[in-house]
Amino acid sequence: MRDQTCQCFALSIMAMKTAWVTGAGKGIGKAIALAIAARDIRVAVSARTASDIENVAQEIRDNGGHALAVVCDVTQPDAIVNAAAQICAELGDITILVNNAGVAGSHKFLGHDDALWHKIIATNLDSVYYVSKAAAPMMVQANWGRIINIASVSSKIGMKYTAAYTASKHGVLGLTRALAAELVANNITVNAVCPAYVDTPMTDGSVANIAQKTKMSAADARAYLTKLSPQNRLITPGEVAHVALMLIDDEARGITGQAINVDGGAVMY
Ligand code: NAP
Repeated sequence: MRDQTCQCFALSIMAMKTAWVTGAGKGIGKAIALAIAARDIRVAVSARTASDIENVAQEIRDNGGHALAVVCDVTQPDAIVNAAAQICAELGDITILVNNAGVAGSHKFLGHDDALWHKIIATNLDSVYYVSKAAAPMMVQANWGRIINIASVSSKIGMKYTAAYTASKHGVLGLTRALAAELVANNITVNAVCPAYVDTPMTDGSVANIAQKTKMSAADARAYLTKLSPQNRLITPGEVAHVALMLIDDEARGITGQAINVDGGAVMY
């Protein structure tokens, strides 16, 4: 980003690479941020809850890494532009972006709650557009970049009561493919990682939601989600981080426009 607000290009070519992980306060984003930082890459961690991202940034520093915590609500385009400028100024040009922030939510389609629709689309899909738009110019400038979108198996299949979530994640996959095609000339790869249910606070919320709506016990609701996997287990955040880390490697430069499932074999395309 070589504009008036950020004069850090000289810094960035001297230093290690800089990554931005959105939604890094907990769950998958936290695991990805810790894994990337362990590779000697500077990491900006963002989310809305300051204490969560401060804790993650401190954990990275305690492990000898470089981290910056930036409060940023990804549904606010101005906040995204400001966060990108702050990260660039303090850590260097962003050449690795992990669009991970997301929310879940379910509703029957008949009588669907419009506010829930807009919240999920704004958080899960519009954010990928705005955050990528803020970071991509720095990657073009560097003639190298990685954009990794944490999508979902819901990018490929539809499940009842998940219209907004499924539409948002299908949209993320479409955006992934379009950006991959457009940015390939700049040595930027754009890929999606598509997990099934992962053992995170989001899934805890899904368990509570199912239990409340169906009168199942929480244990039965968790078992129901677990059995959706042919491996009869939830994916761990570390497994998703492992794939994200692989996609960052120079040796992964031939992989772009792909959507890699991490789902125990539930969806095979
Ligand atoms: P999580 O445990 O709920 O964590 C979500 C993170 O995103 C939190 O740090 C949260 O922090 C942040 N976030 C939410 N809304 C935000 C907003 N408007 N602006 C900025 N940050 C926001 O979720 P997770 O399970 O780790 O999921 C991470 C990603 O993986 C999501 O995109 C999700 O759709 C996807 N995924 C999850 C699963 C699963 O089973 N868990 C499966 C497939 C895909 P704040 O609330 O503090 O902002």
